[in-house]
Formats: sequence, C-alpha cells, structure tokens
Amino acid sequence: MTDKTFPAATILGYPRIGPRRELKKALENFWSGASTATELEQTCQDLRHRSYAHLTKLGLDAHASAVPASFSYYDQVLDTAVTLGAVPSRFADLFDGEGKLGLDAYFTLARGDADRAPLEMTKWFDTNYHYLVPELGPETVFRLANDWIVENFTAARQAGFTTRPVLVGPVSFLLLSKAANDAGAGFEPLSRLADVLPVYAEVLRALAAAGVEWVQLEEPALVADQDLSEGELAAAVQLAYIALATELQAPQRPRLLVTSSYGSLGGLLPVLAASGLDALHLDLVNGTVPAAAELEALGSTVLVAGLVDGQNIWKADLAAAAAKLRRLEESVEGLAVATSTSLFHVPHDVEQEQQLDPVLRSWLAFADQKVDEVRTLARAVGRPDAIAAEVAAAAAILETRRQSPGVRQSAVRARTGGLVPADFTRDEFESRWTAQQDVLRLPALPTTTIGSFPQTRDIRLARARALKGELEDAAYEQLMKEEIKRVIELQEELGLDVLVHGEPERNDMVQYFAENLDGFDVTVHGWVQSYGSRCTRPSILWGDVSRLAPITVPWTRYAQSLTEKPVKGMLTGPVTILAWSFVRDDQPLEETANQVALALRDEISDLQEAGTKIIQVDEPALRELLPLRRRDHADYLRWSVGSFKLATSGVAAATQIHTHLCYSEFGEIIDAIDALDADVTSIEAARSRMEVVQDLEQHGFARGVGPGIYDIHSPRIPSAGELQELLSAAVAHVPVRQLWVNPDCGLKTRAYPETKASLENLVEAARTVRASL
Ligand code: GLN
Ligand code: ZN
Repeated sequence: MTDKTFPAATILGYPRIGPRRELKKALENFWSGASTATELEQTCQDLRHRSYAHLTKLGLDAHASAVPASFSYYDQVLDTAVTLGAVPSRFADLFDGEGKLGLDAYFTLARGDADRAPLEMTKWFDTNYHYLVPELGPETVFRLANDWIVENFTAARQAGFTTRPVLVGPVSFLLLSKAANDAGAGFEPLSRLADVLPVYAEVLRALAAAGVEWVQLEEPALVADQDLSEGELAAAVQLAYIALATELQAPQRPRLLVTSSYGSLGGLLPVLAASGLDALHLDLVNGTVPAAAELEALGSTVLVAGLVDGQNIWKADLAAAAAKLRRLEESVEGLAVATSTSLFHVPHDVEQEQQLDPVLRSWLAFADQKVDEVRTLARAVGRPDAIAAEVAAAAAILETRRQSPGVRQSAVRARTGGLVPADFTRDEFESRWTAQQDVLRLPALPTTTIGSFPQTRDIRLARARALKGELEDAAYEQLMKEEIKRVIELQEELGLDVLVHGEPERNDMVQYFAENLDGFDVTVHGWVQSYGSRCTRPSILWGDVSRLAPITVPWTRYAQSLTEKPVKGMLTGPVTILAWSFVRDDQPLEETANQVALALRDEISDLQEAGTKIIQVDEPALRELLPLRRRDHADYLRWSVGSFKLATSGVAAATQIHTHLCYSEFGEIIDAIDALDADVTSIEAARSRMEVVQDLEQHGFARGVGPGIYDIHSPRIPSAGELQELLSAAVAHVPVRQLWVNPDCGLKTRAYPETKASLENLVEAARTVRASL
C-alpha cells in the first residue's frame, strides 16, 4: 500500500489560518478566556484534519506523505524552539515537572506576560511573514521538550492521513536565532550546532517509531547570504546532514527531505547532494536551474523541483515550468514537482472571490489552484505531451493579460518615462530643518504616535455595514468623523505634541490605498498570516497605477480643524504598497514603484495645499524586500529609495516629511534609511531593547529620529520608569535635537485601556527626561 518513494506531486506547506480564519478566531477566543485549552486543541485538530482531507480531494496522495503537516498554533520557528527546549533563561520556569513545554508556555513565549517581554519578532526572509526569534546562549540546554510533532502525526494517521511532519532544520534554526542578552560577548548561535543535533536525531527517531515515512526539514537560511563565510556555512551544513542523514540511517529515522525556499543554494548544493539525503528541494522560481554536473551529483537523492510560485498569485507559465522540468530530467534520477515555498504566503482559494472581474480571476491561482498546477506539471515528467492542452490554456491566459486594457495606460507611461533627477531630490536637509523648526515650534523630545489608534469593534462594525450597504456613505463618514474627534481630544488630553487623525477610515494601510487607486483590486477572503493570529489581505496590483482623486485630504483637513497642534498627514509609501500587495510580475518592480510614487506625490502636494505641515510616509516594508543575496542589494536600494524620494520630493522646504519603519533589524540598511532623506524617521526599537540607536550613532545619522520606546505588539503596559530608561538610553546615543518620542508602531491592534495607560506613561517619561536635560 505505501512505498517509501517520494510522492510525484507535493506542496511544501498549506495556509494554516483556515479558509474562514478559523485559527485566528480560535486563538483569540482562547487568549481572551472565552474557550479552554482543550477546546483550542480540538478546534485546531479539526482544522488540520479538514485541510488534509481537502488536499486529498485536490489530488495530493494522503497515503504517500504528499501532504505536509505544516500547521502551527503560532509560528513554525517557535514550534521548533519549543520542540528543542530552546528558551531564554527569563522563561526557565515554563518547563513543567517533566521538563516539557505545554500550550501555556508556548503562548507565553510568543506573547510575553506581565513582567516578561516575549521573544522578538522579525521578518521571515523577504516576505511579509514574521517569525519569533529564538534566543540562545552558551548555557542553553537542548532537550526534547514538546511532542506535538509526533502526537499530531499519530492523530492524523488515526484519521486516515499519512502526513509529512515539518520542522525548521538545524542550520536554519540556529541562523534564525539570536544571541540571548545574557549570552556574553561574541556568542554565535551556530556554535551550538553540535549540541542541537542530538535532539534533532531524537526527534527523528521518535518520528520513525511513530511510523513517519518522510520528514521535511526546512533550510531556507541557506539561500541567503549570512555573516559567516561560505566555507564556514558549508562546514555547518555538512556536519548537520552527515549526522542526521548518513550517521543516522533509516529505519531509525524517516526519509529526509530538505527544502531550500526563497532563493538558490549556490555553493551549498553540492554539500547537500553529498550528505546522504533522500530528497532535496530547490526553489526554481526564485532561483535558477543548476548546471547539469551539479544535478548529476544528486545521485539517488530525489530532486523536488519547486516550480510553482508559493509567494505570488499569478497563474503559472506552464510552458516555462515544463521547459525547466525537461532540463532537470536530463540530469537527475528521481524527480518530483512541488511549490517553491510553503503556500502559507497565499490565500486558500480564488473561487471564493466571485466579486472579482472574471477576467482578472482567470489570471489568478491561490493555494488550491497551485496544488492543481503542481499536479499538472508532475504528469509531464517523462511525458511532456501529456499536458499540452494545459500548457496551451496557460499561454492563452498570459496573452489575455498582456492585451488587457488597464495593464498599460499611456498617460501613466508618459509620466514615468519623463522623470528627471530633479524629481527625486529636495533642498538640502539643514535648511529644511531650520525652516521646519520656525513653523512647528515644538518642545525638545516632541511626542507623537505612528498613526493609527485602536480600531474598535464599533469602527469595524460600521465599516462592515457600509460595505453591505446597510449604512449610507454620509452616515459612515459622520461616524468616522466622530471617531477622529474623539482621537484628537484624547491626544490633547494626553498632552502629545504632534497629533494624528487615528486612521479609523482605513481597513488596512495598503488595502485602503489600493481601493482608492486605479490598477488595483482587492479580495474578500484573501487573508494570509502575518504573525500569530494576525492576517493581512494583500491587494492585487495588476495594472498601471494612477490616482483618481484626493484620498486622505478631507480626513486630514477635518482633523486639523479640531486642534491648534500640528496633525500629521499619513500615507503608505510605494515600497510598502508593493511589498504588501500581490504585484504584477510582467515588468520590473521599479516601474511599478514609480507609478505608485507619482500617485502619492500628487496626494502629498494636495495635503500641503490643505495646510498640512507634517506628512508621514510609512515604509515599514523597506527592509522586507531587501534581496537575500548581497550582490543584489545596491540595485534594490537604488529603485526603492528612489521611489520614496519621488513621492516626497515635491514639497516645500518647510513641510516636514516623516517616515516610519518597523519589524526588522535595520543595521544593514541605515545608509538607505539616511538616503530616504526624510526629516524624521520613527523606527521600531523597543523589542530589540533600542539596539538600533547604536547603529544610528555609529552611522552619524543627523536627521530627526524617533526610536519606538513602547512595544505595541503586546498588550503589556510599559511603566513610565521603563520608558524613561529606554528614552535615556536613546539620549545617550543620539543628540537631543534630533530625538522624537513615540511608540514603535501604530496602535490599531491594541485596545483603548492599555493604549491610554501606555501613552500617559510615554508622555510622562518624555517630560521627566526633558526636565533632566
Ligand atoms: N501609520 C500606520 C499605523 O499607525 C503604520 C503601521 C505600520 O507601520 N505597520 O497603523
Ligand atoms: Zn510600524
């Protein structure tokens, strides 16, 4: 019934959130106390088994390990950390009497508690997913501390599914970790490789004993340039996989698939090929087909060809994919077809989007459609003609896309085609700064927020009713204005210096603009996980972009009419709009970014005209799209920074441009942040305990900067004392004239009680430090 060969068609992972965001609801119920742990476990098991049944129906072989067990309660890196017992010393008490980490421990690591900050969160490669960063030190004890991976396999098998358990592989796990605060100078997590391998081996033995046939170890960190030399990295890979694949042999372990999503393995391919793996996955969407000699070195290792894009939603160019498949066939013994990455970056099913123009819908493939593409390509192995009809159909769709009106608009093309260097530059910073101080007259250490205030139930309800037509436009507008008024009054009361309107009218910082710009469409059910229970609904950028009418101007003008204090205009920058949308793949990103930038430039000029003195253009995703290989950085930064400057360079010297960045480590791109030429940059810092401030100092960053001192990603209320300490740390590294005081991101995901209390403390901390200057 089951043989041990690798399935011909598979995917690397499937959306975990559920077609109707069932996981989000289950988690939030549990966290709020509305459901018990047992209920959460049951709901998640149902969700897992339903998705296995669904994938079986879509044609993946449920008896041949074709269905990956890629579910996670919160995050796959956290799952791996918990499996390995790798938790920082401040959480040492989370182990139970038997040395195990349970559900409560798991969520405490993810979300923190009253006196402990959670694990830091950061971007997962060049995607909009965020993982929790394990903190390791020389003393970290690795031991099998959680058995979910085995238990879930067993439960699934009892329900009739032989899944393929998934774990982050040892090298990536360590490369994705950071040195714990108490690790001591110079500690590198990768130095613990030899200590972590025995626990991986123990997991593999336990999985084999439970009847697992194939296990998937994910090694995406191998496609990115790291801080260590290629030789050191190769040595680590060799050490890890000789231990797990050669020294540990089946049947003591399951068959091993190692995946390498998001790019090319480069020089590590031969190392992996020689280490005795049973199957190796290559990302042939982000990476290229390796040379024949390298493929031949795979020998009996099955090549799992990642030919279907796991990160974007355009239907595959089957002709191109089939051509790659033929080149592979010439050189490898065993060949299977898969996606380039897990499918958790894309929504479940395009058929749920019946409101979309059928023509646009016919261009798209979400997770379920991608399963089909994988299966189609798998049929072509050894028999290229078997899929001739599908190849022709895919080619016809690409041709309709090319011909479709809206995909190319001559007015938009004329504008981007006519850009000159002056369109990308402002006056020199010092003279702008002086002009701005004259207009704004702010105190030292001015306080502000990042833009959004809590999106209350009432606001979301009003928007939902307006969408359904139950609430007229005028009534909706009235409700939003009332909300803006409340938010302005609250900020006056709190004593903040630069106010915001609170963004109540925005469902999302990208979708809101997508809905108001030409060239985009939006989905109804197209949610993808951003972190934990948080999802975003990326818009679809399919055509040439232009602004139909002013978007934010009336709201900002209204907010400013309510107060003497300056109200910041609030826009999302071109790079972030691209990063958080599904973007057309038929032209360079630079052209698309400049189109968006020109639309924003018009909006900014209208805001200035309406009396707005400070305009913030958020680029939280600037770091996110940074290529994984250093050789590609310069070109990316050239066009991405250029598009920000194109958007913001049309204003007077006295108009202050702010930007905001978050979710990342910024050390590497401080030059680029400086090159944005924004007058003030607010930047995430609280979760990494103000690390970025030292980077800024080293760089000699001379512009305004607001290192976020209040971590808004957790409901925890920081005390005034704690905020004061962080602020004093900033003062020690950045000249006071440059410093701003703010949270580290927008407040839309928080509730009012904690927001008010935290902002009160923030204003108090600013006043105390101000008085001590
Ligand atoms: N202005 C946005 C807000 O406050 C910025 C959000 C973000 O950086 N993710 O919500
Ligand atoms: Zn942010």
